[in-house]
Amino acid sequence: MIYELVPNELHDEFKAFHHDLEKITLQHAEACPFCKNTKFYIIRSKPINTYRCKNCHKYFTISTNTPFNRLMPYNWLEIIFNNRINKMSYPEIANKLEISIAKVIRRDRAIISYLQTHYPSLYQWYTHQKQAKLMPTLAEQYNTIKARVTTLLNEQNPTCIHCGANETTKVGSRTCYRCKRCRHSFNLLSNTSLNRIPKPELWLPFIDLLVSGANNLQIGQTLNLHHDTVRKWRSAWYHMMKDWQCEALAIWCKNK
Ligand SMILES: [Zn+2]
Ligand SMILES: [Zn+2]
Repeated sequence: MIYELVPNELHDEFKAFHHDLEKITLQHAEACPFCKNTKFYIIRSKPINTYRCKNCHKYFTISTNTPFNRLMPYNWLEIIFNNRINKMSYPEIANKLEISIAKVIRRDRAIISYLQTHYPSLYQWYTHQKQAKLMPTLAEQYNTIKARVTTLLNEQNPTCIHCGANETTKVGSRTCYRCKRCRHSFNLLSNTSLNRIPKPELWLPFIDLLVSGANNLQIGQTLNLHHDTVRKWRSAWYHMMKDWQCEALAIWCKNK
């Protein structure tokens, strides 16, 4: 049934990728990922099979050196992949598997990264990229934005905006902190257009979709967001990208 949703010219790659996922799920190891030697023995089977190569003596599992490393249980990968093709949103899939949205997104990103390396046509289609390749300026700004957002979301002890101390601690899941020295609270995003944009776990996927050229409808379906929300977020990111000196990318993402 899922085949009908995939364009004919992609069936070979699709089949091959399914076969790869099957091998991972069944933990069917064929060779050492480090030296490609085919002689190895099993060290333990819990929680997953761990092998040791008879040639280079390194330990490995079925997912060592792949984007799927440590993403157990492996059968979720195929469920997520198939449901994304069925146009289920991340929150819907999370609900179905009874796991967090972050876990679904992490696995989908691993799938996308694997496809990008091994199955380029399927990758293009799966990420509905219209543009085969971004122009160098845009690609550079895209990386800048992703790096800034990642840094921002993982900030541990930012400098206090009131007294300049570094003894600060995170409050809640967003970008709010409290200073242990002057006891004031602050938000790294106050006075920016992201101030009132919730769900930071969806920011990076949202930016990926913007840059890929997805329209508001596609973004809304993928992230399960109302179209008014998508419009609001698109505008917030437009201003944020401009503030961060990524004007070309801001314009690229402005309207579709
Ligand atoms: Zn080896
Ligand atoms: Zn302070």
